[in-house]
Amino acid sequence: MDERIEQSGEEDRAEAPDPVTPLAGATEPANRVAPADGPRTDDERMPPETAAVPRAEADQAKLPDVSPSELAETSDPVPAARPDAIPMPTASVRVRVDDFHFPALLNGLDFLSSAVESLARLGGPAPRDLKYAVLHLYTAVEVLLKVRLEMHDPTLVWEKPGQYDEAKHRAGAFRSCGAEYAIKRLKKHELLKTDLDPKSEELVALEELRNRLTHFGWTDTTDAVRARTLPVLLQLMTFLRLDLLPQVADTNEAWRAEREMDKINIQTQHLAEFVAHRKAEIADKLRGHEAMTVPCRSCGQHAIVLPEGPAADLICHFCGKSYPGSGVDAAWEYIGEDPHTTIKDGGEDFAGCSACGERAVVSVHTAASPDTLSYLCFGCGTDHEGVCDYCQNAGYITYTGMCDECYDIRLSRF
Ligand SMILES: [Zn+2]
Ligand SMILES: [Zn+2]
Ligand SMILES: [Zn+2]
Repeated sequence: MDERIEQSGEEDRAEAPDPVTPLAGATEPANRVAPADGPRTDDERMPPETAAVPRAEADQAKLPDVSPSELAETSDPVPAARPDAIPMPTASVRVRVDDFHFPALLNGLDFLSSAVESLARLGGPAPRDLKYAVLHLYTAVEVLLKVRLEMHDPTLVWEKPGQYDEAKHRAGAFRSCGAEYAIKRLKKHELLKTDLDPKSEELVALEELRNRLTHFGWTDTTDAVRARTLPVLLQLMTFLRLDLLPQVADTNEAWRAEREMDKINIQTQHLAEFVAHRKAEIADKLRGHEAMTVPCRSCGQHAIVLPEGPAADLICHFCGKSYPGSGVDAAWEYIGEDPHTTIKDGGEDFAGCSACGERAVVSVHTAASPDTLSYLCFGCGTDHEGVCDYCQNAGYITYTGMCDECYDIRLSRF
């Protein structure tokens, strides 16, 4: 236990990861949204005021007295997303209002607006726009959660609240907590009416998607990203309505936020319609196969139908993600791992199937029983009751945790 924990006396502070790196030094890119790698199109640009925020924030230490006109000239057209800190007011805002929350809220809404506009665009966004939509949505989630924390107690925005320093806070020279810790802290301090789960499947999936895009390049389709982002978007809208906007004391700020929300609401409805329409389009292909239908790794929709018999080149009907090759290949693709690397590193193989003998039994939630685990063979579609603790084969499992065969062998020894 380090001294910081003793200072703070709160266990959520103890959970925070490693040492603080001042943001002003710009040496820790780990949790940042990747900067744009080229000029953006006009419709992607943020309004000058909000576009200036992240730059102003990063430059606080160097340019404390930058004038509004200089700021406008030097402002980066890219919504230079930095999800790990509440953006500081621009110089122009600081001279007009003495309210730290003002730009952070509107800046968060601006990221949200940018994301949803792109996602709801007719015909679908271009792959590059889609990538920024995901990055911006994730940034919006983090910023807006932290705006509520900030209103309650600015120290809670810090990754390590015990190290809070007002001057550094105002300069943006600190590392702030991520979405998971922000939700934990909001719950702990009873600031949430919205039912947010720090480890919600939707939020984790969005984070994984963001990481895939940031570190491994583009692999998911427009439909997949729309389906993945919609649940998070809906949760965030509820949070804004119930927990954040009612707390905004400044009437001008509240009015601007409401106006922005109206626009975001309309776009969110369009997005929900796209997803509902796509679901309706594929409904016939899925009907009657619910017990053999598993959720797609890419879009999260129950839309991969396992065949009754040898599987080859499985595909997600919703987003088109392919799981090429045999059932065994598909099973590994499904969990996003390479069998050679995993097994070489001491990881486990899949359980063997009692029907076809392939090691391709995956524990999944089917469309027929989304709340209980099924043990489905990706090779032949056989549904098993469980996996034997002793032989690691799937099949009928007795009360001992063993399959029939292992149970018989064991009995015969007595
Ligand atoms: Zn899919
Ligand atoms: Zn099988
Ligand atoms: Zn067994």
